[in-house]
Amino acid sequence: MEIIKTQILIIGGGAAGLNAALNLKSNDITLIEKNGSNSVLCPWNLMIKSKKDLLKEILETGCNSTDSELLDIFSKNYENIVEDLKKTGIKFRKSNLGLIPNYTQPGKEVRKIFLNKLKEKQVKLLKGSVEKLLIDKNKKIIGVKISLFNSKKIKIFFNYLVLAAGGLGGFFKFRTGSGDSDGSILALCYEAGLKIRDLEFMMFHPFLLVDKRLPRVLVSGDLLTKMEYENEKGEKFLSNDIADALKTNKHHRVFPKMTKEFYLQSLKSRIFGRLICSNKWFEKFKKENEFGFIFKNFKKNDLKKIELHPAFHFSIGGLVINKNSQTSQKNIYAAGEITGGLHGHNRIGGLAILEALIFGKKTAMEINKKIMKEKEIIIPEKIEGLGMLGLSDEIKNKAWEVLGPVKNKEDLNKMKSFLKNKKNATSQEKLLEKIIEICLLRNESIGAFYRQDLRKKETARSSFLIDKKIIFKYGK
Ligand SMILES: Cc1cc2nc3c(=O)[nH]c(=O)nc-3n(C[C@H](O)[C@H](O)[C@H](O)COP(=O)(O)OP(=O)(O)OC[C@H]3O[C@@H](n4cnc5c(N)ncnc54)[C@H](O)[C@@H]3O)c2cc1C
Repeated sequence: MEIIKTQILIIGGGAAGLNAALNLKSNDITLIEKNGSNSVLCPWNLMIKSKKDLLKEILETGCNSTDSELLDIFSKNYENIVEDLKKTGIKFRKSNLGLIPNYTQPGKEVRKIFLNKLKEKQVKLLKGSVEKLLIDKNKKIIGVKISLFNSKKIKIFFNYLVLAAGGLGGFFKFRTGSGDSDGSILALCYEAGLKIRDLEFMMFHPFLLVDKRLPRVLVSGDLLTKMEYENEKGEKFLSNDIADALKTNKHHRVFPKMTKEFYLQSLKSRIFGRLICSNKWFEKFKKENEFGFIFKNFKKNDLKKIELHPAFHFSIGGLVINKNSQTSQKNIYAAGEITGGLHGHNRIGGLAILEALIFGKKTAMEINKKIMKEKEIIIPEKIEGLGMLGLSDEIKNKAWEVLGPVKNKEDLNKMKSFLKNKKNATSQEKLLEKIIEICLLRNESIGAFYRQDLRKKETARSSFLIDKKIIFKYGK
């Protein structure tokens, strides 16, 4: 098997991984990615507010469980990151949240711009999938085993590793993001004993298009105000306050309740959004709105009603990092949705891309300070290949039913024993079992975590996985 040594290995080619690569001052960078990423599907709507308001909102929404060091780094850097983007040539327009790149499919266009910049830096880009972590006798991660898409298997050893492999979306049947941001790396890190936090906090979204005529993507924004929501019999199912909030575009304020209503209905019947708008409005929307391109081949009357389904949207928890973006293993850094801490127990929209860019750059700046002192990579004789990846459709279905927006003790217990009794559990299944265990151990509903049988609280401890053990505590 071919062996490659590289000074810096980046896993993930989304906003976090690409921005790390762009800011690293090394001529020996290797980036490995699968084909898809959430950063490409995302419209890159960036929340822009005064620092004071933003901090207040992040803290309030996150139930005051935010890691204050990470919040500090975020607030010091978010304006500069927007300037960085402008300097790369990205054009912005105003959006409902702040700014959005002015392209029909922003994620795709921004990736092109980033990749052009990376060509100048001669970053080695590999297409494939990390399958295993390589561990030395002290249980430190020293390399990875990769299956390239040309069927070749290789091993890569590094001085520094940047984990930018995205969130847990691929664990679920219904997800707004790419199946390639599938929690595989997080699951391997769990097996390797890296410190992880708050995995039970997940953000869901009610509006995934599951209509066979349309691509399976998320819709948001103005279109939601132009629909009436009904079950397959044509009956309305939303409470009045949620229906009103949607009509007046104020649904962000009632997001958790709204998501629950859609989720509970989806367990009983299909859900449709009936379009209530003029032909003129629809034509304008197709041309001007960031979601308009999805409907470009349709007239309003061809669609009439659109089938929707709630879906997993964002992993709030993830790897623990410090203010230097360092994980619990010193030479391993992490950035973006694979990390946890910045959002505490819930998050506001429009911050995820900024977070990925800020901490992606941070990893680069920290590694830049150290790379001159590095010694040659020596591969030890004794190496263990850790992890076995894989997640069946059956598990993804069950994960959706049990860990969706509304959870209950009975179903969690059933899933736990199902996974416990599974022979040869994969790395993702082992992590899933742990998440379920955390959900069962929590004794309150808080933030983005909701269990029907628990009372709601305003503050609560965070959950940590330290050497695979669950620990609840305040702070870090
Ligand atoms: C539909 C949608 C709309 C969104 N809208 C917004 C928005 O408007 N504003 C906002 O701020 N946020 C938004 N978000 C959230 C935001 O897109 C993500 O949080 C962000 O893109 C995460 O970036 P990332 O670099 O951490 O991960 P990703 O972009 O998910 O990248 C992960 C990378 O890791 C690679 N990878 C994963 N596993 C492996 C493996 N085993 N081997 C090799 N490579 C691997 C993937 O191929 C990919 O390249 C949206 C998300 C979705 C899904």
